[in-house]
Amino acid sequence: MVREERGILFVVSAPSGAGKTTLVRNVISQVPGVSLSVSCTTRTPRPSEHEGVDYFFITPEEFNAMERAGKFIEWAKVHGDLYGTPRANLEKLRHGEDLVLEIDTQGAKRISEAFDDGVFIFILPPSLEVLKGRLKDRGGDSEGAIQARLHNAQKELDQKVWYDYIVVNEKIEEATRALASIILAERCKTTRLLGEKIGGTYGADNG
Ligand code: 5GP
Repeated sequence: MVREERGILFVVSAPSGAGKTTLVRNVISQVPGVSLSVSCTTRTPRPSEHEGVDYFFITPEEFNAMERAGKFIEWAKVHGDLYGTPRANLEKLRHGEDLVLEIDTQGAKRISEAFDDGVFIFILPPSLEVLKGRLKDRGGDSEGAIQARLHNAQKELDQKVWYDYIVVNEKIEEATRALASIILAERCKTTRLLGEKIGGTYGADNG
């Protein structure tokens, strides 16, 4: 097997309520060798969320200190709260493990500028109406927060054009299969498998 040691960086974005978290967690439990990057946020935890599993919940002061110390590979303000990807999370890539960053489109854009071999995936809700319903059903968010998320959703949706893949999350099982297939297909890419060896050790000799 000539697969490069370095893992693949997958970046998944979606407007809030597109079902991204469930989808990503399904895929991580089904596909071996891929793990989730846990972000830091200043947002208050929702009832179902756990420290260190969903996020590291920190204060704005702690966040700013980490930011000043260069501990985030990217960060962004989303719906009034701060979110950042700890640089240390990328260590996993060096050990050959694939990593999924579940981040907003601003953060994804920054990552795309720094990692030209990252894989960028946008999760689409079937419609804005469905998105609205999902945001309301989720619970834990105030009416104001829901409205802010909906307002932001349109801006996020406009960004889908530069992503490598789009997965429509209408039926969770199908969307899970699509996302898992993208991961498996990316692992089989010739350029990743052979890297610089194309034309070298593994080159053809028809003479
Ligand atoms: P939520 O509060 O619904 O969990 O997340 C709100 C938004 O912040 C989502 O679009 C989510 O992907 C994004 N987000 C979560 N963690 C990060 C991060 O580390 N960096 C950036 N840029 N966005 C993040």
